[in-house]
Amino acid sequence: MTDTTTGAPCVLLKHGEVFLKGRNRSRFTERLHDNLRVALRGVGGSTWIKTAQNVTVLGGQVPQEVLVDRARRVIGFNSVEPAVRVPSTLDEITRAAVEALRSVAAERPGCGFAVRVKRRDKQFPLKSSAMEVRLGARILAAVPGLRVDLGSPDVTLAVEIDRRETYLSWDRLPGLSGLPTGSSGRALVLLSGGYDSPVAAHRAMRRGLACDFVHFNGAPYTNPSSVYKAYALARELNRYQPPGALHVIALGRAQKQLAVAGAGRLQVVAQRRLMVRAASVLAARTGAEALVTGDSLGQVASQTLANIAAVDEASALPVLRPLIGWEKQEIIDEARRIGTADISVLPDEDCCQLLAPPRVSTRAGLPHLQAVEKRLDLDEVITALLDKVQVMHPGDEAEVPAATAAECAVPPAGVR
Ligand code: ATP
Ligand code: MG
Repeated sequence: MTDTTTGAPCVLLKHGEVFLKGRNRSRFTERLHDNLRVALRGVGGSTWIKTAQNVTVLGGQVPQEVLVDRARRVIGFNSVEPAVRVPSTLDEITRAAVEALRSVAAERPGCGFAVRVKRRDKQFPLKSSAMEVRLGARILAAVPGLRVDLGSPDVTLAVEIDRRETYLSWDRLPGLSGLPTGSSGRALVLLSGGYDSPVAAHRAMRRGLACDFVHFNGAPYTNPSSVYKAYALARELNRYQPPGALHVIALGRAQKQLAVAGAGRLQVVAQRRLMVRAASVLAARTGAEALVTGDSLGQVASQTLANIAAVDEASALPVLRPLIGWEKQEIIDEARRIGTADISVLPDEDCCQLLAPPRVSTRAGLPHLQAVEKRLDLDEVITALLDKVQVMHPGDEAEVPAATAAECAVPPAGVR
């Protein structure tokens, strides 16, 4: 693709909620563009970005479909539209409009079309409605086999006229909408290997949280399969944000200590409390102001109201639960859409299965939990957990060669 002045390919990115931000809008737009620049890294050619009100225009010496693919992963755009740009003259716009519909007619003969013109430059000699009529007539005259259909067109040619340039687009792909990642601050996601926590992380990102991840495994009593999964999941999630780090903490010994202290049916909730205590300390290091989990109310015994309250009581930070009202099937469907389902479905040795009691208490009482915890030196346990935390950078291709979900059963280089 060459970037000529007439009919040069570009991509229009329509802003989502950022557009509603009033006086703060420029801060959000800057963040959106920073994230877009990160997503364009390594794209294999130079790129440029410019803004016209609530639209970002993206172009460069890179195939248009590559730009579209990268932009669709950036949170904060309502739609991503492959487009061409031409100088804002009547002739150039008309020529580009006819060419565009000619290419459409070649693929979809007989289809109904409409032209929608937005004239942002009020100096332009024709009003939007007059321009729509003119372009429609020229297209009909030049391209056989098309018909006008203003009610429910198969194809809508959108023409946006700015002072210097005009953008024409006729394909509209949905974007990820939401707030730009990082505009709401940082969070630390408790990432297990299941379906839920990756979806929760993605939701948190869409509300503007830049996410780092912490995964607890049962080492030294379990194999590292859950770490490989967490790594693959974090890498998939990092495609939607400037990459966050994955912290891996070996919980096995602490789990044993809880069991020896007589946690019994409270074992799982006591472990969760240890997780959020350790995560709270880690969050202070990573600059996170909240924890995120994949809990959904009542989904499993450990996610009753009483148990959730017991976990919250142990956390120094707010625990956000984006999926609290979601059903399992909704979560799995979303996991498929965002690309984490194929990884979550793989088998692993999860630390929660280690020492899990036959029946988990659904009403963990705080006094009983605290009595168990008193039998340990909690500060010492947390310090020991954090002493050996492993930090990885999923998505940093310099660190690990690219691997697909299927490959994550094989240890990635650098992960032991
Ligand atoms: P998921 O599908 O996310 O594993 P789940 O349905 O298995 O969730 P639980 O195992 O009860 O539910 O876990 C609830 C939440 O606690 C998880 O969504 C996750 O945020 C956190 N969590 C559980 N196990 C771990 C772990 N080993 N490492 C990090 N976080 C964990
Ligand atoms: Mg789980």
